[in-house]
Amino acid sequence: RAKHSGKNTYRFFDDSMDESMQRRVATQRHLEEAMSQDDQLSLFFQPQVHARTNQVVGVEVLIRWRRLGEWISPAVFIPIAEDSGQIIELGRWIIDRTLSQVADWRARNIEVGKVSINISAVQLSNSEVAYELLNALKHYNVPSEVIAIEFTETTLMVRSAQLARNLAMLRANNISIAIDDFGTGYCSLSYLKELEANYLKIDQSFVRGIGDIESDECIVSATIAMAKGLNMEVIAEGVEIEYQAQYLAEHGCDYLQGYGFARPMPAADLEVWLEQRKQTLNAEDVKA
Ligand code: C2E
Ligand code: MG
Ligand code: MG
Ligand code: MG
Repeated sequence: RAKHSGKNTYRFFDDSMDESMQRRVATQRHLEEAMSQDDQLSLFFQPQVHARTNQVVGVEVLIRWRRLGEWISPAVFIPIAEDSGQIIELGRWIIDRTLSQVADWRARNIEVGKVSINISAVQLSNSEVAYELLNALKHYNVPSEVIAIEFTETTLMVRSAQLARNLAMLRANNISIAIDDFGTGYCSLSYLKELEANYLKIDQSFVRGIGDIESDECIVSATIAMAKGLNMEVIAEGVEIEYQAQYLAEHGCDYLQGYGFARPMPAADLEVWLEQRKQTLNAEDVKA
């Protein structure tokens, strides 16, 4: 329509750009508010289980934002915060809150396994995120082995000196590294080898095709085989149904994460979930 509207074309595009721009600016302003108020933002945790034993091995930390009764998806506001640079301050908040939570769990003897924090490309390439993370670990007296960081392949496309410094510092301090959403970006396999990441996370778009789309199954099994060859452990994301879990376990995937096991939830709910799960597993032991 715009193509044929002659003189109006300019106005048409101009107005729509204005609107999306205004939405972005509004989101940035609201996020600024949220970061200063401390009651709209929270952390959720999603369990990760061992593919064969189904024991809980870790949790992924996922940020949540609720504003005026409405949930705003991180898939929407994280990219906006990356654009504005707010992700750096937000990232600090996420690290601080996560470690404070981990310290609390440790003090109460609640075992959640490895805690995986998502780190944005902007943080890794433009901030002292590794140094800050190490400081926070010290401050909360949490050993670095408890923590993993996740970042997407796309992060690796900008190979800045700062990125290299951050990764080296994380590695030197035994903080695990996971490549998130593997298969959706453009990471070269030779760089992947160089990186010596500890975990590869298979993107949920491929997991969804298991039992249905042959090419997805092929990608999944080949990715697992490659990761093994490069000494990485594999985590599958978005595991929703039993057949997917079975297929992944049979093909040597190490860990599973998805709604089929648990949704992301607040810390208090996670504690209840862990307790209930322990009792169910014990009951099964007694039966057997
Ligand atoms: P991600 O790191 O790949 O996170 C996985 C996403 O899949 C999460 O969405 C999670 O809730 C969702 N998910 C988990 N299991 C299932 C499942 O079985 N089915 C389906 N359909 N979805 C599942 P979420 O929480 O909306 O986060 C979206 C993205 O936003 C994340 O993708 C990550 O890139 C970013 N993000 C979330 N939290 C943070 C954070 O604390 N820091 C940074 N930098 N980015 C974050
Ligand atoms: Mg992630
Ligand atoms: Mg992912
Ligand atoms: Mg993602």
